Amino acid sequence: SRYVAVRHHVEGLPSEDDFEVKAARVRWWPESGEVLVRNLYLSVDPYQLNRMKRRSASHLAVDGIVPGERIDAYGAGEVVASACEEYKEGDVVAGVLGWEDYTLFRPSPGVLMSKLAASDDLPLSHHLSALGERRRRRRRAPRHARMQFLLICLSVSVAPGGDRWIEHVAGTSGMTAYAGLYEVGRPEAGEKVFVSAASGSVGSLVGQFAKLAGCYVVGCAGTNAKVDLLKNKLGFDDAFNYKDEPDMKSALKRYFPDGIDIYFDNVGGETLEAALANMNTYGRVALCGVISEYTDAGHRAVPDLLEVIYKRITIRGFFAWDFLTRFAEFTGVISDWIRQGKVQVIEDISDGLESVPSAFAALFSGDNIGKKMVKLA
Ligand code: NDP
Repeated sequence: SRYVAVRHHVEGLPSEDDFEVKAARVRWWPESGEVLVRNLYLSVDPYQLNRMKRRSASHLAVDGIVPGERIDAYGAGEVVASACEEYKEGDVVAGVLGWEDYTLFRPSPGVLMSKLAASDDLPLSHHLSALGERRRRRRRAPRHARMQFLLICLSVSVAPGGDRWIEHVAGTSGMTAYAGLYEVGRPEAGEKVFVSAASGSVGSLVGQFAKLAGCYVVGCAGTNAKVDLLKNKLGFDDAFNYKDEPDMKSALKRYFPDGIDIYFDNVGGETLEAALANMNTYGRVALCGVISEYTDAGHRAVPDLLEVIYKRITIRGFFAWDFLTRFAEFTGVISDWIRQGKVQVIEDISDGLESVPSAFAALFSGDNIGKKMVKLA
C-alpha cells in the first residue's frame, strides 16, 4: 500500500516535486472498533495548500499537514474489513479518508464518514463533487434540541442500545455552492450575478444554481475552452477569459453595465477589488475562497471600504459547514436537478494514486475543469 506526502512545507505555487509517494504499512485485520477502507476516489482541494504552509497550524482553523506524514482528504471507498458493528465488508462510504490506497478509521463523533445507500443511483464520484455527505454522530441531544432537529427535517433515528444518531453534513462543492449562493447571496430573479473560477468545481455549480434562480449570470475563467463550456454547455448568459483582460474593472463594467448584485468570489485579489468597484447598492459578496492569494505570490485584495460603506455592500465569508440545517433540502433539490438534467456535474478525474500531486498542482495552474479528483485503480 502507498500514501502521498509532502516532502517539505509548501510556500509558493505547488508542483509535483513537492510531493512523494511512500510505502505504507496497512493492518489488514482491523482491531476492535476499526474499519479498513479501500479508497476508490480521492478529492484534491485548494484549501489543502494552506495546510501545507509552515505557519498553517497557527493561523488556520484546520490542522497543518506534516511533511512525510499521511494527508487526510475527502474521498469515497469500499469497506474491505471491519471490526465495527456499524460497518460491513462491501459497504460504500464517503467522508474523510486520505491520499492513500487504504484508510483505517475508527468511527467516532469526530470522524466524518457516512455509508452510502445501496439504492443510490447517482455516480459515486458525485459524492465528492455535487452532493454533500451526511455525518452520523452519536450524541445525546437535549430534549428541546431533539424536537428542533425533527422540525427541520433532519433524520434522527434510534440506534440499537438507545443512543441517538443525528445526521450531520460536510461541505463538498455542491453544498458550498448551494449555501453560498442561497444563504449568503440570497438571489432574486432578475439580479445580476458574477462568479469567478466559474468553470471550477464550486463555480460551475454556482452559475447553474443562479440561472435556476432566474438571475443573469456571467462567469470568468482562465482559458477559452472554459469560457466556451460556461456559455455553451452550462447555460451562463456570458463568460470571459480574465487572462485576456488587462483591466478587470473595465471588463466588469462592460459585462455588467447595470452593476453586479451578487459576486460569488472564489479567487480574491484583484478580481475581488474589481467586483466591489462594480457592485450595486445593497450588493452581496459571498466570500467563498481566495485561491489567487493562497500561493503567497498573488496580490492580496485591498477592498475600497468607503465604496463598501456608501453602497451598503455585504461581504460575508462562509464555510459550507455553517449551514448544516440546509442539508436535507440541499440533497433532495440538487439530486433532483441532476436527475432532471437541470444541472450538469463537471468532473475532471485523474487516474491512480501517483497522479495526486499533479492533480493537486493543476488547481493552481488552472489545468482542471470542474471537480478535480483522483480515481484509484
Ligand atoms: P476549482 O475547481 O475552482 O479549481 C481551482 C480553479 O481556480 C482553477 O481551475 C483556476 O481556474 C482558478 N485559479 C487558480 N489560481 C488562480 C488565480 N491565481 N487567479 C484566478 N483564478 C485562479 O476549485 P474549487 O471549486 O474546489 O474551489 C474554488 C474556491 O472555493 C477555492 O478558493 C476554495 O478554497 C474555495 N472553497 C471554499 C469552501 C468553503 O466552504 N468556503 C469549500 C470549498 C472550496 P481558472 O482557469 O479559471 O483560473
